[in-house]
Amino acid sequence: MPDYKAPRRDIQFVMHEVLNVEDHYKALRGDEEVNRDLIDAIVEEGAKFCENELAPINRSGDEEGCGFDNGVVTTPKGFKEAYQKYVEGGWPSLSAPIEEGGQGLPNSLGIVMSEMVGTANWSWGMYPGLSHGAIKTLESHGTPEQKERYLTRLISGEWTGTMCLTEPHCGTDLGILRTKAEPNADGSYSISGTKIFISAGDHDMVDNIIHIVLARLPDAPKGTKGISLFIVPKVNVNEDGSLGEVNGVSCGSIEHKMGIKASATCVLNFEGAKGYLIGPPNRGLNCMFTFMNTARIGTALQGVAAAEGSYQGALTYAKERLAMRALSGPKCPEKEADPIIVHPDVRRMLLTQKAFAEGGRALLYYLSMQGDIVEHGADEEAKKLADDLMAFLTPIAKAFCTETGLEAANHGVQVFGGHGFIREWGMEQIVRDTRIATLYEGTTGIQALDLLGRKVMLTQGGLLKNFTKIVHKFCKENADNADIAEFIEPLAAMNKEWGDLTTQIGMRAMANQEEIGAAAVDYLMYSGYITLAYFWALMAKAAKEQLAAGTTEVGFYTAKVQTAQFYFKRILPRTKSLVETINGGLDCLMDMEVDNFGFY
Ligand SMILES: Cc1cc2nc3c(=O)[nH]c(=O)nc-3n(C[C@H](O)[C@H](O)[C@H](O)COP(=O)(O)OP(=O)(O)OC[C@H]3O[C@@H](n4cnc5c(N)ncnc54)[C@H](O)[C@@H]3O)c2cc1C
Repeated sequence: MPDYKAPRRDIQFVMHEVLNVEDHYKALRGDEEVNRDLIDAIVEEGAKFCENELAPINRSGDEEGCGFDNGVVTTPKGFKEAYQKYVEGGWPSLSAPIEEGGQGLPNSLGIVMSEMVGTANWSWGMYPGLSHGAIKTLESHGTPEQKERYLTRLISGEWTGTMCLTEPHCGTDLGILRTKAEPNADGSYSISGTKIFISAGDHDMVDNIIHIVLARLPDAPKGTKGISLFIVPKVNVNEDGSLGEVNGVSCGSIEHKMGIKASATCVLNFEGAKGYLIGPPNRGLNCMFTFMNTARIGTALQGVAAAEGSYQGALTYAKERLAMRALSGPKCPEKEADPIIVHPDVRRMLLTQKAFAEGGRALLYYLSMQGDIVEHGADEEAKKLADDLMAFLTPIAKAFCTETGLEAANHGVQVFGGHGFIREWGMEQIVRDTRIATLYEGTTGIQALDLLGRKVMLTQGGLLKNFTKIVHKFCKENADNADIAEFIEPLAAMNKEWGDLTTQIGMRAMANQEEIGAAAVDYLMYSGYITLAYFWALMAKAAKEQLAAGTTEVGFYTAKVQTAQFYFKRILPRTKSLVETINGGLDCLMDMEVDNFGFY
């Protein structure tokens, strides 16, 4: 990847000037401790770590990949050392509860760090990133003994964790998973089965790995209602906390992948491994739902990271690379050709990357603030609203930000011309690395079904209305603000159209449920474009206010307004074609007989 420079000013703009996190943290914690100075200092330290330790080993990690020899997995050069520095810096415990050895800072602050880590080196970020799911599971459902034995050492970063869901025959449809858990006389369970695609499933960075495994008890009902959750350590832990014998779980192989090559994706064989039940029997999937939203925001970040990283590389290149003259005449007559940034098409690509990176950042920071409220808020009504907003916006964020992140990464390659296809520039790595983001943690198709089927139709549009009401209120409050009328008017119109379109799909679905599946992905993307329009309108408003107040950062705020203008004029109209394709309906998808799909 090209040199990574953490977008400190953009991050500050979203946190302080658009979302006002200082007040949010004050309301949440009832103290003034997490103030702007502290927030900025943490972001600055995190930025330095990502720029100096992680970015330099991103491309070498991709070239070297992970090693697998005689059952032992090794990470690329420098990965282990960077992890040690990460632990020494206290980063793993940033947003963990104080009672469990964490620093008790809000999760939304952790998301900012995750964005910088992920942009600098997504593969490396997978190792501490996967621990997050294990930590959340134990925090919410572990017994006091389980917490004492495993949680504190996951939080400190001494050990890492995994999430073991996928099996060779099932990923999306976990209802058919086969891994077994047989009860032992001592209250533990013997876990047997094969899990595949397990990120950070084995590696050389730490002495122990805590696997969170989905498995079935002997008498479990079929389907998703018969899945339980187990802790399975790589190395058994003795009563006194010391490490005991190696458990019956081994790495059978690592995958050879299109991207994130420095992240070990493992086949794990459980052969009578000792496991411990977490949460009630047969309620494993329900337990996981408690933190599924946060995990999905983490994956959505990969899209923002790809857009940001790719934009940084493309912008530098577009200012330096000379090719042809501007159509209106030379812009740099002293040079033998103009830099490609003068060409409208190159600007189209750069601005698309910028709009997705910065718009996606605002959406994800906002969502993680809702997560703070759900976890730590005192007011029950506010908590319920935040929970509902998260339920509605998370599938949009996960699928839309990763799809647009991938698009942005592709634009990055295109800006580089043929050089974008050559490895040494690092632009193609971003495309390869980010391709997985639309697949894991629920594919785009599955997120779309979740949004349209469960979140919108099952609630009779209730969750959608929660959000459109917020957009409506913002539009109404700013209806007379001529300064931002160019954003408010189209946003208000689209917000209304969103409801109407949903009603139309609902009517069709009453006649045939398959209509939901036919409309889902286009509906999700449509929803994503409007959601981002709301955040761009918020950002344009904040920027215009600074300009009106006579800011000294005229270039910075003008660029925000201009990116919002680009978004509204050149990106948001994509919704028009999505309305058409949604209304194109089901028949043209389903009429063809399966046997007629190909004649070979
Ligand atoms: C690099 C990598 C890392 C991963 N890390 C982990 C990990 O740490 N832990 C873990 O447990 N898993 C992990 N996974 C697994 C990942 O989550 C699954 O691959 C993913 O959930 C999709 O499952 P699948 O591959 O079985 O695809 P399938 O479920 O077979 O789906 C195939 C296609 O069918 C579509 N489809 C399926 N059902 C429907 C439906 N009802 N309606 C419409 N479309 C449908 C899907 O959208 C997809 O396009 C990882 C995978 C990879 C490649």
